[in-house]
Amino acid sequence: MAGEREGPAIGIDLGTTYSCAAVWHHGDVEIIPNDQGNRITPSYVAFNETECLIGHAAENVVDINPANTIFGAKRLIGRRFSDPLVQKDSMLWPFKVISSHDDKPMIVVTYKGEEIQFAAEQICSMVLTKMKEIAEAFLGCSVKNAVISVPAYFNGSQRQLIKEAGTIAGLNILRLIAEPTAAAIAYGLQKKYSNTSPINVLVFDLGGGNLDVSVLTIENSIFQVKAVAGDTHLGGEDFDNRMVGYFVEEIKRKHKKDISGNPRTLRRLRTACERAKRNLSFMAHTTIALEHLYDGIDFEYKLTRETFEELNMYLFEECIGHVDKCLKDAQIDQESIHDVVLVGGSTRIPMIQQLLKDFFNGKELCKSIHPDEAVASGAAIQAAILSGHSEISDIELCDVAPLSLGVMTSGGEMEVVIPRNTPIPTKIKKILKKGIDRKKVRFSVYQGESERTRGDNTLLGEFVLSAQRNVSCLNVSFDIDANGILNVSAEEKDSRKKSIIDKVGGWLHKKKIDRPVEEASS
Ligand code: AMP
Repeated sequence: MAGEREGPAIGIDLGTTYSCAAVWHHGDVEIIPNDQGNRITPSYVAFNETECLIGHAAENVVDINPANTIFGAKRLIGRRFSDPLVQKDSMLWPFKVISSHDDKPMIVVTYKGEEIQFAAEQICSMVLTKMKEIAEAFLGCSVKNAVISVPAYFNGSQRQLIKEAGTIAGLNILRLIAEPTAAAIAYGLQKKYSNTSPINVLVFDLGGGNLDVSVLTIENSIFQVKAVAGDTHLGGEDFDNRMVGYFVEEIKRKHKKDISGNPRTLRRLRTACERAKRNLSFMAHTTIALEHLYDGIDFEYKLTRETFEELNMYLFEECIGHVDKCLKDAQIDQESIHDVVLVGGSTRIPMIQQLLKDFFNGKELCKSIHPDEAVASGAAIQAAILSGHSEISDIELCDVAPLSLGVMTSGGEMEVVIPRNTPIPTKIKKILKKGIDRKKVRFSVYQGESERTRGDNTLLGEFVLSAQRNVSCLNVSFDIDANGILNVSAEEKDSRKKSIIDKVGGWLHKKKIDRPVEEASS
């Protein structure tokens, strides 16, 4: 739309724990400080009798108003309530998460004396609104255009929800960019693309909520993602969860008291665990001391780095497993990686660094880009390029689809239409014949690598094609745009009539998917 792209364009790293905004300014990236002068802003939203607080103001009240202070909402994006990971998280969170009628997790808070439910994307939109306001105060003008980063491993429906969160926040989303790809741009800019021959880079991005691993080849100013791997539910919050769970058991054992049902106690314990975890990145031991924690208990525990590592070792090893998988998918060996770039707050953990170094046979890791700011910087560069404000318009990005996408056959198998690590944007058509000689054909679109759809694969959406006569053959088209958002359409192949078109945005867009199928004559 004319005029829509006017004004500055910013990059936003919408993190699980912290968010960061940046802008391309006077020929360089500038991190935008918030109203407290900090360069990162807690992704926290708190509700009380009179107002809704976002960022530091919300984080500051977390101990006094734990049931109404929301954090980690990004971990719920695009997941079902019944998802075991959601169940596990919500058991340890001090705020309430319930199921909607269609299995969507809803966060329950008391706001201005009323009980209100919010979807995760609504909470994310509030954080984005805050980041927009921070940028506006810094730049002294209205800010509409933004590039928002998303975990590389987010699926199409999760990306769609982040896009919607941005729109609710009043932003015009120029593009969604994968977090490690954004970090690679920041790294590339720092190196000024000085290498004339291509270099292979592995970005290891371990934040609060997720792990993303990306292997890229950088040649001049072309950033070609070769493969991605990771987990949208593996990060600092999981290490905190392990510690909280450990101490809940410890208190049960030692004091015969169960604190797990008490939000305030859990919140105090979590804050102390997170602080202890950070200390243990620089110290061999630390003490968790919480006076009057619960029912007369003054809790004190001397925690060593060793115990912290033991508690989380299986998660750390999982992280390295993703690195191995990513290299295999990229068909590049350890020796051919020029730099292992660390991004995300959790890469400060010494054992993570040690395991990575060992995996790369003693290679020194690249710590030269700021782990908390690199993603926002890369997003800001992309925003500047897309809005035509920049003198660095020669950068070219080629990203990939993180997971295989396909449809369920009548035998329950996964018929892959787009294999994982296919460069995007892409459009792939496929003719489907199996088991569809009916007037009504139900499509189930899945993502994942299992041969059986109902194994480990995730159902993204379902829709029904109805025709006036039996349908024996279908043309199915999978279309992934530059944001990584999937649209699926299908039409009857043998008929002259052009049948149905419907789109799959994801299971959360059920209304759209359940819409009666239209038949349009050509
Ligand atoms: P990010 O999502 O990149 O902002 O990373 C946030 C995560 O990094 C949170 O889980 C933090 O607890 C974690 N983190 C930040 N600093 C440290 C540190 N020094 N040691 C261990 N974890 C840290």
